[in-house]
Amino acid sequence: MALEQTLILVKPDGAKRRLTGMVFDRLEAAGLDLCAAKVVSVTEELAREHYKALSDKPFFPNLIRYIRGEFHDIRKNKILAAVFQGEDAIKLVRKVAGATNPEQADPGTIRGSFGRITTEGQFENVIHASGDPADAEREIKLWFKPEEIV
Ligand code: UDP
Ligand code: MG
Repeated sequence: MALEQTLILVKPDGAKRRLTGMVFDRLEAAGLDLCAAKVVSVTEELAREHYKALSDKPFFPNLIRYIRGEFHDIRKNKILAAVFQGEDAIKLVRKVAGATNPEQADPGTIRGSFGRITTEGQFENVIHASGDPADAEREIKLWFKPEEIV
C-alpha cells in the first residue's frame, strides 16, 4: 500500500449531463481525499500532450475533439480537472471508474452506469483517471502547478 495522488478529469459528456457531483461523491465514498480542483480551458496543445501516448491510434483525432468539448457544445472548451489522494489511489480510482469501454464496464462503476459508445464508435466514458504511477505523475504536472495541490 502506498499513499498516491491521481488525476481525474470530468470529461465533456460528464459535464453536459451534470454528473460532476456524482463523480466526486463516488470518489469520496471510496475513501479518497480531494487535494486540487479547477476548471480548465483545454487547448489543442494540452489535449494532444495529455493523450500523446495514443497519437498513432485511429480514434486519436476524435478523442482530441471529444476532450475539448466539441461533441457536447462545451463553450470555451471547459473541463474540470482534479487530484485525489489516498492509499493505492490510482488503482482505486480506476476501479470506481470502470473499464475504458463503457459496454464492458461493470454496471456499478461510473463508466458502466453513465458511459456510452456513440454511433461513430467514440467511447464517451465520463471521466479520465490516470492509468499508473508514471502517468499520474506526468498528468498531475501537466494540469496543475505544485502550489495548486494542497
Ligand atoms: N478511446 C476510444 N476508443 C478506444 C479506446 C479509447 O474512444 O478504442 C478513448 C476513451 O475515451 C478513453 C480514451 O480514449 O477513455 C483514452 O484511452 P485509454 O486507452 O488511455 O483508456 P483510459 O485510460 O481512459 O481507460
Ligand atoms: Mg489511459
